[in-house]
Amino acid sequence: MAAASPVRLELFTDPLFERHDTGEHPECADRLRSIRKRLAASGLLPRTTSGTVRSATEEELSRIHPLKYQQVVRKFAQNGGGRLDPDTVVSPDSAEVAGKAAGSACAGVDDVLGGRADRALCLGRPPGHHALTARAMGFCLFNNVAVAAAHARTQHGLANVLIVDWDVHHGNGTQDIFYEDGMIHFFSAHRYPFYPGTGAADETGTGPGLGATLNLPLKFGISRAAYRDAFRLALEKQAGHCKPELILISAGFDAHAHDPIGSLGLESEDFATLTQDVVDVANVHCHGRIVSLLEGGYDLDALAESVELHLAGLLKSPA
Ligand SMILES: [Zn+2]
Repeated sequence: MAAASPVRLELFTDPLFERHDTGEHPECADRLRSIRKRLAASGLLPRTTSGTVRSATEEELSRIHPLKYQQVVRKFAQNGGGRLDPDTVVSPDSAEVAGKAAGSACAGVDDVLGGRADRALCLGRPPGHHALTARAMGFCLFNNVAVAAAHARTQHGLANVLIVDWDVHHGNGTQDIFYEDGMIHFFSAHRYPFYPGTGAADETGTGPGLGATLNLPLKFGISRAAYRDAFRLALEKQAGHCKPELILISAGFDAHAHDPIGSLGLESEDFATLTQDVVDVANVHCHGRIVSLLEGGYDLDALAESVELHLAGLLKSPA
């Protein structure tokens, strides 16, 4: 993008994502209502365009999730839902809504790689980064960021994609899916030890994927400055190593100090710093191209404030 031109950002969001009804659960529809209310008052929306929310096709999902697993999720939802794993609630509309969260991620990739936008922010749910190829886990049904990365490779021919995951929980599903993959790279900063138990520094990939995974495990109690410094250093190292053509963000906001189930002591403005770090790296390596997907974040006010700062950061032009 030209140095001074405004960033063209597509925002994918829709009230339909509220139809994934989890009842009394931290990953609830009010999260998106709170974000939308905050963004509407922020003055940022006129600087964005609306992306078209669509369903992921069976083919797009099948790059990550076997057809049989997709059918299990659909049938479970059709039969009224329940809990697909101890943490993961499914309602009758959940399979359709989860398909739209993954589809929006693909549409964001299409629009950014097709040159219609510089960046995309997908505010859908359920989140995705704990979902394994054939198993729902940790509030996640389909691994949206993994589906998006596979789409960038298969549909658009990209050889190097970097997934940056700053959700407070390790993105075990994403890591597992690409652990032997030398083309889709994964960098995660997360609280450790913590749910889901993975994400140690010595988990670095295997076979052709050796070195394509970089974990930054951070102990509870780390200072905000130490977190930010470690994040930037590790991000620059991984991006320098893989030279991404596109950066995807698993943007969870549950490392916020107010988060009821996560927390790593961050304040809302720290997410502006993390966003700026990723923007800087994207400007160096891939013409600023970023597709960001909402993962966790469970304090409704802290989440909305953090997302606003994230969006403002994504809208910043290169200096
Ligand atoms: Zn999380």
